[in-house]
Amino acid sequence: MKRISILGSTGSIGTQTLEVVRRNPDALKVVALSCGKNTELLEKQIREFHPALACVADEDAAADLRVRTADTDVRIVCGMQGLEETAAFKDADITVTAVVGMIGILPTLAAIRAGKDIALANKETLVTAGHIIMPLAKDMHVNIYPVDSEHSAIFQCLHGEKHEQIEKILLTASGGPFRGFTPEQLRSVTVEDALKHPNWNMGRKITIDSASMVNKGLEVMEVRWLFDVPLENIEVVIQPQSVIHSMVQFADGAVIAQLGTPDMKLPIQYALFYPDRVFLKGERLDFGALAGLTFEKPDMKTFRGLELAMEACRDGGSMPTVFNAANERAVGKFLDRKIGFTDIYEIIEYCMRSHTVIASPTVSEILDTEKTVYEQIESRWPA
Ligand code: NDP
Repeated sequence: MKRISILGSTGSIGTQTLEVVRRNPDALKVVALSCGKNTELLEKQIREFHPALACVADEDAAADLRVRTADTDVRIVCGMQGLEETAAFKDADITVTAVVGMIGILPTLAAIRAGKDIALANKETLVTAGHIIMPLAKDMHVNIYPVDSEHSAIFQCLHGEKHEQIEKILLTASGGPFRGFTPEQLRSVTVEDALKHPNWNMGRKITIDSASMVNKGLEVMEVRWLFDVPLENIEVVIQPQSVIHSMVQFADGAVIAQLGTPDMKLPIQYALFYPDRVFLKGERLDFGALAGLTFEKPDMKTFRGLELAMEACRDGGSMPTVFNAANERAVGKFLDRKIGFTDIYEIIEYCMRSHTVIASPTVSEILDTEKTVYEQIESRWPA
């Protein structure tokens, strides 16, 4: 029985992780859960999965939930301290990091310091603090299992292979709902248009990131840290059908790919059961019915988020934090209809151009950089 703690259990990845638990009751047990604001759903999850600990972002909401769950054995904690306690919960074997945004950094570090294996969905943590997370995980003998579908695909392709024989990582992307758009067309898209991903059903922030291709940029940075591959050996390939989830090319020219239907429960359960594969109910690929598999080069001129991400990755140090923080705030403003879609790129570029890189930032320098970026954006693009 593997005991799991889930950070962000009310979100897209969190609820799908719970579905995996629901389908594997003899192998997985939930011991801790957490949410931001959605205490209604968290209460239902507490009643169904009986965790010993649950965390809510806000103190008043936690007090209210304590009253509502007084008939259960759960202990309710709150805030960042509570999230760190949930991440490092003593009874957990593995922590699923499925909160959205840089809020994931401190709890992920707490979990690693406590020796918990990590099923990592929260990409912003690795993007901004990969230089701290990866060496710490190595020192603590902690395994980091990727949950992101592309990174899980690469992880699966690398199974049994030698790192020094990797020639290239081929990171696939669907191209999102605006594939083929001109810069002019992109300028006038709406929030509703951007929230319609052609193949995947995900949380709001990552759906916007996918439409802007910023998500692929964040994933390139994630690849760098997870698989220790230099930027020049990572190639983004548009694969509009989202059938190939990523590929690895080896020294002899062989390319190994992982294919499947778009279902996040596969990478989630691969991370939880690794190295085993367990039955997953659902559709299978029907090659007879596949109209075709097509490939394109990404249009980095129109989807400038990807180009800016490559630049941030090359600059390194604190620049990925600037890229990520500027994007987080800009996406929030776009979802609130305060800015247009392509203003997301303007904001990221503006913040990157005015930043002086800190070569190897500490956690507090990362968090200070995030704060400075937010202040900068608020003064130039006030709410
Ligand atoms: P969602 O927005 O669906 O869920 C986010 C979760 O984080 C929710 O449980 C939310 O709680 C919680 N949360 C939000 N703010 C806070 C806060 N201040 N304190 C504590 N908890 C908070 O996101 P996704 O599940 O889509 O994504 C999660 C992470 O996984 C992201 O980093 C994303 O990039 C990555 N990812 C997601 C994929 C997907 O298919 N969805 C695929 C690959 C990676 P509440 O519900 O209460 O707001």
